[in-house]
Amino acid sequence: MKNILEINHLSKSYKSIKAIKKLTFSIQEGQAYGLLGPNGSGKTTTLSIISGILKQDSGSFLWFGEEANASQRLRIGSLIETPHFYPYLNLERNLKILCEIKKQSYKDIDRVLKETKLYDRRKSKFRTLSLGMKQRLGIAAALLGDPEILVLDEPTNGLDPEGIAEVRETVLKQVRRGKTLIIASHILSEVEKICSHLAILKQGDLLATGSIKEILSEEEMIEFSSSDNEMLKQKLESSNLIKEIEQTNGLLTAHLEKDVDSGDINNFAFENKITINHLISRKKSLESQFLELVKD
Ligand code: ATP
Repeated sequence: MKNILEINHLSKSYKSIKAIKKLTFSIQEGQAYGLLGPNGSGKTTTLSIISGILKQDSGSFLWFGEEANASQRLRIGSLIETPHFYPYLNLERNLKILCEIKKQSYKDIDRVLKETKLYDRRKSKFRTLSLGMKQRLGIAAALLGDPEILVLDEPTNGLDPEGIAEVRETVLKQVRRGKTLIIASHILSEVEKICSHLAILKQGDLLATGSIKEILSEEEMIEFSSSDNEMLKQKLESSNLIKEIEQTNGLLTAHLEKDVDSGDINNFAFENKITINHLISRKKSLESQFLELVKD
């Protein structure tokens, strides 16, 4: 697959605040790539640098294998900050002004309004839109000229559940159409619904990158007891079935290795002539794994 964006050792500080520290990762064509991290982790800084709004202190990035240049701008649509539209002008007029600034023809306006389900509101003044619609108009603006890449910074911020769902649907439609998406969010469940890949940031450091499945494996944890807890614990410790095991108040808790399930533990106990008399299996939620990753 083709590399769309390669980020190499990218760093940026605001006086004494190190906003991003030597970030290195790459994004491939067609991926829906999430930048996930709590507030202040450096997502906006990263997106601003790769969109040419901000200059890095050190490190580099390549779009389509080349240093940033003006012709690439047409291939990348971005929505980084809350878009500034004229409140008393209608949607169509606002987009026409953007087309003039971007030196593009008006011919794409109807299409982007339809893509973002705003066509029926095209004659409404911007100020009469709901927050979700305003955000969708920002996406419509980013879609002018049909760029291959869409860069969005927290597009669902501040929206109610209905607004979030509408923005998500708009974004997913673009992913399905084959666009490469780079989207920042601090909400794991949102990233999960939209993205296939992610980079997890915390205070400017990259904690993990890869496919969601790779990073956040659905790890299984079991709680159990048996006819001989001590012996079972010892035997399991020397097996390759578990990552860790603890014994408290007559109960064992174990984190299982990948592809091992509670049935394997049951069989293992049986083979060692130990009877398991209580077993509860719990899948660790992605949310709790994410919180563990970003905790201090
Ligand atoms: P959020 O979701 O809150 O926007 P973020 O992950 O996008 O967070 P950034 O906005 O990139 O994070 O901020 C990273 C760090 O840099 C934070 O500590 C922030 O306070 C700081 N920062 C960002 N912009 C500036 C600025 N213009 N001047 C000073 N510090 C800044």
